Amino acid sequence: TDAASLLDARGVDAGYGTMQVLWGVDLDVRPGETVLLLGANGAGKTTFLKSLVGLIEARSGHIRLGGEDITKMRSSDRMKRGMTYMSELAVFPDLSIEENIRVGAQALGHANPGARVDELYSLFPVLRDKRRDPASSLSGGQRKMLGIAKALSAEPKLLVMDEPSAGLSPLFVKEVLRALSSLQGRGLALLIAEQNIGFLEIATRVFVLEGGRIRFSGTVAEMSGNEELHRAYFGLK
Ligand code: ATP
Repeated sequence: TDAASLLDARGVDAGYGTMQVLWGVDLDVRPGETVLLLGANGAGKTTFLKSLVGLIEARSGHIRLGGEDITKMRSSDRMKRGMTYMSELAVFPDLSIEENIRVGAQALGHANPGARVDELYSLFPVLRDKRRDPASSLSGGQRKMLGIAKALSAEPKLLVMDEPSAGLSPLFVKEVLRALSSLQGRGLALLIAEQNIGFLEIATRVFVLEGGRIRFSGTVAEMSGNEELHRAYFGLK
């Protein structure tokens, strides 16, 4: 166990029914860093993120957050300890943008949800402009921003995201990347599962998952120096 880690997962096995999907996965995230979890369709990225945030159980292994063992803890308690999961499903289409953000802040018993909402608007000005409109009126990229704002209303130390680029045009992917890089300066740690290597731009370290096992972990530079991985994820040199 690395004492400097914010999140530390060791030897995580997980699956569905009789099917084992993850095999002894080790991954750690340090305070304030951005870690990218790469892997093809079906590699087990979503399954791993869900086991971290408590949506499915780890069958073996240990997960620590801020040094505390959270392996058996319910999802809401993990959230109270500073880890939130960004999901578009958490956006309520019939509520206004502002109501959506407030619901998130209130659910966490935020002492001053109004102040938090203002802070989030300064991060995502487009949401301020549309604050009274129903969330259903947002574009795909804007809905993603709202999902992020909502997750941030909890003031997490670590934001866990599953394929933030999914369903977005390259222009909107750029917008999401810009929003995430402005969060990095504020000490927030990010763990992002992606197939889009555009996210390497903002990552400090990378883990590659294949067939439910970690095949590689290292810095972005180390990854691009690895001939075989480079070919698999960046195309031909
Ligand atoms: P994707 O990018 O497609 O989401 P992924 O790397 O996130 O891929 P997972 O969604 O974790 O991969 O899926 C890993 C394996 O687990 C796949 O074989 C998938 O079919 C299976 N799987 C995922 N969810 C379930 C479920 N609820 N019940 C049964 N099997 C599942």
